[in-house]
Amino acid sequence: MRIKSVTPMSVSYPEPNDNNNTRYLTFCRIEAEDGTVGWGEAITQFPEVARPIGMLIEGLAPQLVGCDPLDNVAIWRKLRQHTWWYSYRGGMAAFAISAIDIALWDLKGKILGQPLVQLLGGAVRERLPVIASTHAFKPSLEEEAERHGRYVREEGYQGVKIGFGKRGEARLGYDFDRDVTFMRLLREAVGAKGDIMIDRGQSLVWDLGHAIKLTNALEEYGLRWIEEPLEPSDIEGFRKLRLHVKTLIATGEREWTADAFQRLIATGIVDVVGCDPGRAEGITGTRKVIEHVEAADVWFNAHAWSSAIVTAASLALSASSPRCLVFELKPIRNPMQHELVTTPFEQHDGWIDVPMEPGLGVDVQESVLEKYRL
Ligand SMILES: [Mg+2]
Repeated sequence: MRIKSVTPMSVSYPEPNDNNNTRYLTFCRIEAEDGTVGWGEAITQFPEVARPIGMLIEGLAPQLVGCDPLDNVAIWRKLRQHTWWYSYRGGMAAFAISAIDIALWDLKGKILGQPLVQLLGGAVRERLPVIASTHAFKPSLEEEAERHGRYVREEGYQGVKIGFGKRGEARLGYDFDRDVTFMRLLREAVGAKGDIMIDRGQSLVWDLGHAIKLTNALEEYGLRWIEEPLEPSDIEGFRKLRLHVKTLIATGEREWTADAFQRLIATGIVDVVGCDPGRAEGITGTRKVIEHVEAADVWFNAHAWSSAIVTAASLALSASSPRCLVFELKPIRNPMQHELVTTPFEQHDGWIDVPMEPGLGVDVQESVLEKYRL
């Protein structure tokens, strides 16, 4: 079997979980000579990068056409070797490699008739606990606490992860007293058992003293983890932070490559390693990250806040390791989860099943990609 074609496709779409902000993704469609198709994704986010990643995939395509898609890891190595000149230790080529690599794993699974999780060596767990991962954007704290409480009380999610400092009028992350009030309201709304995670948006500038004081205050209401309370590069700040807080510390999502994750984990400052397969060189790159996570006995957390393609890849990767705490889903229906595939991913009573159909286990609707085409 040989690869016949490699085709990028970028989209723009409104994301209701992000205050209807327009988001941009770049997909990759790889077709084998028998007509079997694999799909991949890069979480490019912005138009100025979605377009060039499409061009980059087109430029790399001749290196794939004619290759055996079952040699996917060898192809991944070849692409990394080729792109080092403009993407050493990460950068834009990591997006292109991510989309191509995910598509190749999907294609391989479809050709062999095996689900991705089996190609990765098998599921440690057949289902994963699910939290609702959202941004707060309404001005009323009571309203936002109640909305997130409903995800747990009524929809069954096992917890919520909320981004502070995001678009909209919630203005969370700017005022200590207001943030603590929100946490109190949120705990009341979520109930005693639900997980609560807080993620500092990068528009917020906190210093070490504030990060310690706020994390300590939020801990009083049962904080499961604090995500990137300081700039991820501030390793010394994180070191000092963890001497003063009890909660788990999450970071990692800005890294591109497994060796960067290895260096981050080696600092000893991270408990929950955030990693997006649509950015960190695909499934092949993320598997390597998980190996580092497992060696250090920390936790892996897929940054799967994009389309159903990255969700499918993240589910298989997360289920392949015992070091996954929870799985994040966006709670509000959205085009790239609920329109893109015929059977969208849903949680049931706080759990999600790992796809067991061949490849990624999703049926991509090309008409939806046309509808949102950039
Ligand atoms: Mg985050």
